[in-house]
Amino acid sequence: MKELSMVVLVKQVPDTQNLTGEAMKEDGTVNRAALPAIFNPEDLNALEMALDLRETYGGAVHVISMGPPSAVEVLKEALYRGADDAYLLSDRRFAGSDTLATSFALKQAVTTKFPDFDIVLCGRQAIDGDTAQVGPQTAEKLGIPQLTYVERIEEIKDGMIKARKLIDNGSELVETTLPVLLTVTDSANEPRPYLAKRLLKYRKAACGFDLPGLLSKYPQFKTAEALREHLKQKGLFIEMWGMEDIQADKEEVGFAGSPTTVKMIESISLTGKGFKKVEPTDDGIAQFVAELIEDHTW
Ligand SMILES: Cc1cc2nc3c(=O)[nH]c(=O)nc-3n(C[C@H](O)[C@H](O)[C@H](O)COP(=O)(O)OP(=O)(O)OC[C@H]3O[C@@H](n4cnc5c(N)ncnc54)[C@H](O)[C@@H]3O)c2cc1C
Repeated sequence: MKELSMVVLVKQVPDTQNLTGEAMKEDGTVNRAALPAIFNPEDLNALEMALDLRETYGGAVHVISMGPPSAVEVLKEALYRGADDAYLLSDRRFAGSDTLATSFALKQAVTTKFPDFDIVLCGRQAIDGDTAQVGPQTAEKLGIPQLTYVERIEEIKDGMIKARKLIDNGSELVETTLPVLLTVTDSANEPRPYLAKRLLKYRKAACGFDLPGLLSKYPQFKTAEALREHLKQKGLFIEMWGMEDIQADKEEVGFAGSPTTVKMIESISLTGKGFKKVEPTDDGIAQFVAELIEDHTW
């Protein structure tokens, strides 16, 4: 069987468990600078699934993140965990992208850079935007089947993939053709920790925007180009792609390619008000059901 070419799409997200009043900007977008940034949790499950498939079937795990320069941190994390290579999709002209424009840019990156891909893996959902739309929209734009809520891959054989997906009250066994896009849930696996050897190697990895700072640290490299070449040879250069690199149409990304607008974002704290305890007895439940019927809730 041909080795698998896999692309994992990962997002750097603000740690929404630590939301504060500064979390939102006036225009309704997330004030990322005010929050610690982390690897979107279910993207770690997607990465783990890809690494696991590589162990079974062979092949390569490529990781792409679209985001600001700081997103290079999640790419380094992916390298620490075992990814073969990682790429940052970053361009000022991507700013303001909604899920449609984001999935267009991701689709362009996959098809221009990895035209022979077999599997694209996404997390089920990002913990900031929370829409769970980017995976399915990217599959639609790639024109390939999608399997969502995937928990386990049962078999890949003869151009077909058989997977178990999470559904209400159980799981479903589904099969489709390759290439395919999977969205992976947090119940799929336990992401592996950083591998010490890889951490020692890839913590020195750098992106184009790091070069000016590094040049003053390593004066033996006379130019940014010489330093870039050195890092490339060592496998420590994280490429950054802009709009031209992925042949994106400027009408399809950023504000121009985004039909949705954030009108308002509110931070909601749930209080005990309106909360009612139901006694776990036959009488308690009967009374609760009667109230629901009276309330037309049931
Ligand atoms: C009108 C509008 C304007 C916006 N403007 C901005 C802005 O200016 N700046 C900004 O940062 N965000 C902006 N956003 C948010 C941005 O669109 C979303 O963060 C992005 O599309 C991902 O959507 P989501 O978080 O719901 O991801 P989901 O759909 O929940 O993510 C599902 C999966 O898709 C993959 N994925 C999602 N996003 C990425 C990514 N960036 N790179 C790689 N893989 C990814 C991951 O595997 C993830 O687990 C805007 C959104 C809207 C609606």
